[in-house]
Amino acid sequence: MAATIMDGKALAAKVKEEVARDVAELGGIGLATVLVGDDPASHIYIRLKHEAAEAVGIRSDDRRLPADISQEELLEVVEELNADDSIDGVLVQSPMPDHLDEELTVETLDPAKDVDGFHPRNAGALYLGEPLLVPATPLGVMRMLEEYEVELSGARAVVIGRSNIVGKPMAHLLLQANATVTVAHSRTRDLAAVVNEADILVAAVGVAHLVTADMIKTGAAVVDVGMNRTEAGLVGDVDPGAADRAAFITPVPGGVGPMTIAMLLANTVKAARARRARLANRPD
Ligand code: NAP
Repeated sequence: MAATIMDGKALAAKVKEEVARDVAELGGIGLATVLVGDDPASHIYIRLKHEAAEAVGIRSDDRRLPADISQEELLEVVEELNADDSIDGVLVQSPMPDHLDEELTVETLDPAKDVDGFHPRNAGALYLGEPLLVPATPLGVMRMLEEYEVELSGARAVVIGRSNIVGKPMAHLLLQANATVTVAHSRTRDLAAVVNEADILVAAVGVAHLVTADMIKTGAAVVDVGMNRTEAGLVGDVDPGAADRAAFITPVPGGVGPMTIAMLLANTVKAARARRARLANRPD
């Protein structure tokens, strides 16, 4: 059986078109990014986010702060963006220099502008089954599964990885979609047997080709979040041979990656809508 390829690039383009229509309707949406220091990969991510935002008509505010900024000064910038009514979404790029407290910085963000969905208020809302702003990568995975009409209700889903930005929110979203969810991690015994139970497998590990073709249940939907730089180029956590057993599979690159930025833009629109509705109802 040759799997259907879940084309993240094409779907991301569709999501961006939807976002562009929403932006045109809502008007004047602002996304601010905060980047501290000189991490080269972070500079690339920030540039890509700004290009994507501008392409859909979202105005972007690019704050670059020196690597030796104090925690206090960083929080002042975040608070200034919280208070700025022309800004609908704020994201603080990770990783930060070691002397800064990333958790405290995220907690200082206005949860209503937290388009990465990392604030404890947003993480808690997801846990309680009433998601507000959800991290973009797992949200993108859900959109892909929906687009390809993968049946989630009652299905056995296995998520490998339990990070706060991918694995955990992914597991909660699948649970809410009525899948029976198992979360595997580095201490899981007999990963092959666990994976082999999965009707839906989401691999978010960061180990090249950790999941081999023989682990895959025939007819499974396989989503590969992994992005691993190797001598052979960018590869996922799943061996591409899995396509011979799966019914659906995401490629790397061109799968989950493009969806992440598209969903970040969608989150910015969502944040703008919710905040404006609240402002409109605010007593004078
Ligand atoms: P992370 O914070 O390093 O988490 C990795 C998870 O994998 C941990 O829960 C870890 O278990 C688990 N793990 C490690 N080795 C394992 C093994 N041998 N068997 C089973 N589980 C194992 O990584 P992350 O931020 O979630 O990212 C995961 C991958 O997704 C990375 O390749 C990253 O580059 C990629 N990613 C892609 C996108 C995208 O847009 N496509 C976005 C974000 C991340 P423990 O908890 O026990 O340590």
